[in-house]
Amino acid sequence: MTILADTIRELVIANRILAREGVVDAFGHVSIRHPENPERYLLSRSRAPELIEPGDIMEFTLDGEAVDLRGRTPYGERMIHGAIYELRPEVQSVIHNHSCELIPFSVTDAPLRPIMHTCAVIGSEIPRWDIRDKFGDTDHLVVTMEQGRDLAGSLAGNRAMLMRRHGSVVVGGNVKEAVMNAVYMQANAKMQMQAMQLGTPDFLNPAETEKCIARQMSPLAIDRAWEYWCIRAGSESL
Ligand code: MN
Repeated sequence: MTILADTIRELVIANRILAREGVVDAFGHVSIRHPENPERYLLSRSRAPELIEPGDIMEFTLDGEAVDLRGRTPYGERMIHGAIYELRPEVQSVIHNHSCELIPFSVTDAPLRPIMHTCAVIGSEIPRWDIRDKFGDTDHLVVTMEQGRDLAGSLAGNRAMLMRRHGSVVVGGNVKEAVMNAVYMQANAKMQMQAMQLGTPDFLNPAETEKCIARQMSPLAIDRAWEYWCIRAGSESL
């Protein structure tokens, strides 16, 4: 297998995992920066993540132009990915989703913060981007590079961000990290909501968060999680 073929397979698996874990449904997407050309990224054609196959994976320039269209229809919101890769050279994978657990935190001022050690991967600072601030009344989809760059600027150096009335973005130094961030961002939101019904949550502090991130991103933890998610998603059949 070539490096590119391995990366495409990994991207298909990531799509199936995110669907299995309920982070994405018919909508939402995950990309990987091209392993041989940092000015390009790999992303499926417009299709529900659970159904994606290697032949659906397309190659894009950072400004969202398809390199190999072959009659396929790209995702309307692909600009999210290129704009983040453009701003963050260290980022190798981007996930955008509309997880239902996250939406309440996107439309209120309740801060989403890590509530337990495995969820520290979302980072201690989670910005909240509002397309309305700069672009007025829209359908909330990020469809231009100007919108994508504005979103990326709000994400800045953080690991995750909420999008008001829409969803979230998370990034990773590789696709396993990005999947870890997305899965545990959703889990954190669910648990934090429950905690807030009982009282005032006692969050991880920033120093603890950094230590927990290092632990979660170690091969011991992330490879164990990835194997578990792969099996649950039925990816051994790929
Ligand atoms: Mn969206």
